Amino acid sequence: MTGPRLLVLLGHPVAHSLSPTMQNAALQAGGIDAVYQARDVVPEALREVVETLRSERAAGNVTIPHKHVMATLCDRLTDAARAAGAVNAFWLDADALVGDNTDIAGFDAAARAVLGGHAARRVALIGAGGAAAAVAIATRAWPDAELVVWTRRADAAKAFAQRFDHARAAGTLRDGLADADLVVNATPLGLQDDALPLPIDALAPGAAVLDLVYRPGETALVHAARAAGHRASDGMAMLVEQGAATFMRWFGIEPDRSVMWRALGRAAPSTSMP
Ligand code: NAP
Repeated sequence: MTGPRLLVLLGHPVAHSLSPTMQNAALQAGGIDAVYQARDVVPEALREVVETLRSERAAGNVTIPHKHVMATLCDRLTDAARAAGAVNAFWLDADALVGDNTDIAGFDAAARAVLGGHAARRVALIGAGGAAAAVAIATRAWPDAELVVWTRRADAAKAFAQRFDHARAAGTLRDGLADADLVVNATPLGLQDDALPLPIDALAPGAAVLDLVYRPGETALVHAARAAGHRASDGMAMLVEQGAATFMRWFGIEPDRSVMWRALGRAAPSTSMP
C-alpha cells in the first residue's frame, strides 16, 4: 500500500477532535501502517509546521482556524478547495503540496443520506460561515436547486447569497423555512446546550433536517425534528463522509465506514452506506 505514513490534523484548539479516533480505526481496519495525530498549532506557527510536514512527506487535515490560510500555503488546489477558498485536506503529489476541500463532498453525501438517496430542490441554510460555504458549493451542483440563506445578521446573509448564483437571502427565518425540502443548520447553536436554531413548527411537511453540529446522543434539533415526524441527522454523518473522502485521496481506497462509525460510538445508519 502506497500513501503517507504520518497523518496530522492541524487546528487550534484540536484536542476535542474525533478525527484521530475515526481515522486510526479506519487505518487499522485497512491494514495500513500509518498513524493519525492531532496537532495544536497556533496561527503564527502554521507555515513552519507545514514546511516540516512537507519534508516528512506527511499528509493530513486542517480545521479551525487554519482552513483559509492553508489554501495560500498549498502549491495546487483542487476545484473544490479553490471554490471554497478553504482547505481541509492536504497531501503531497510528487513534490507538490495539494489542498482539497472534502467538507463539500462530506456534506453532499450526508445530505443525500438524510434525503433518502437524492438531492433536494429547495434548501434552507441557517448560517453564513465556512461550513455554510461548503453547503452552497455542494448544492449549486444539484439539479435546479435553490438555496435560501438566513443568518442573525441580515447583511451577512445578503453578502453570502451574492457569492452564489442559486442563493438568495431570506427576509425572515420562517420565510426561509417555508417550502424547503432540506433544512441545514450551519451555526454552532446546539453544540454546548439544547438551543434550537429554528422553530420546529415552521418546517414544511416532509422537510428533512441536517444539523451540521454533532455531540454525544445527537443534538436537540435532531431530536425535536424527529419528534415532529421529520427525517433528521446530525453532523456526525458529514464528519464520517468528509473523513472517508479524504482517506480516498490519501490512499486511493474506500475506508470501512462502519468501522469509523463504531469508533465514534455510533452504529452506521444504513442510508449512509454506499
Ligand atoms: P463559522 O465560519 O464561525 O460560521 C458560523 C455561522 O453561525 C456564522 O454565520 C455565525 O454568524 C453564525 N452563528 C454563530 N453563533 C451564532 C449564534 N449564537 N446564533 C446564531 N448564529 C450564530 O463556523 P463554521 O466553520 O461555519 O461552523 C459552523 C458549525 O458547523 C460549527 O460549530 C460546527 O459545529 C459545524 N461543522 C460541522 C462539520 C461536520 O463535519 N459535521 C464541519 C464543519 C462545521 P455571525 O457571523 O453573526 O457570528
